[in-house]
Amino acid sequence: TQFTDLGLSKPLLAALAAKNYTTPTPIQAKAIPPVLAGKDLLGIAQTGTGKTAAFMLPSLDRLVAASKGRLVPGRARMLVLAPTRELAAQIAESARTYAKGQPLSVGVIFGGVPVPRSLREVSRGLDVLVATPGRLLDLVDQRALDLSALEILVLDEADQMLDLGFIHALKRIVKLIPAKRQTLFFSATMPKLIKQLADSYLTSPVEVSV
Ligand code: AMP
Repeated sequence: TQFTDLGLSKPLLAALAAKNYTTPTPIQAKAIPPVLAGKDLLGIAQTGTGKTAAFMLPSLDRLVAASKGRLVPGRARMLVLAPTRELAAQIAESARTYAKGQPLSVGVIFGGVPVPRSLREVSRGLDVLVATPGRLLDLVDQRALDLSALEILVLDEADQMLDLGFIHALKRIVKLIPAKRQTLFFSATMPKLIKQLADSYLTSPVEVSV
């Protein structure tokens, strides 16, 4: 399988070619077609498997396809929740690389930086927001961020998020997001609690394990 076989748009294929990526990793080959088709996904995968591109590439194509052309201040269309600052920053960097040359805005917010910087990041509205749970809720509580029109939700490293004590934050955040959305759920491990969480957030998901 090559990237050109998966149904991705020309701008994304160009961005991949610029990075010299020609062959999708197994999780990319399995996840990209169903996510492009709008399905929910349960991905059991570790870091290093290429999972970021597996959820980001098809999501960017769906955002472009459903774009209404203008963003609403303080609103995000896609949210990627990640457990750590480092991972959030990495995901945002990947998103920017893949979105190159397309009308897609990417922002990232996490704790440990001054709040005004996070406020500026979301103020104009974003196609893609990458966030850690605590700082995200700070902005919601300040009414600086509105998740009521979110189209795509990604939970990355869900097991790590639980290990770091984000379960309550996570549940609060998901309650703010419309039920009618596409949800992509990733975890390296699938203990009972994670499985229950996945079951409650996903609708008829495609399961991919690598
Ligand atoms: P991830 O598991 O998403 O953290 O990705 C692991 C690393 O593999 C990152 O440095 C990616 O840039 C790289 N990568 C992802 N997909 C591919 C691919 N299809 N071909 C080559 N490298 C890739």
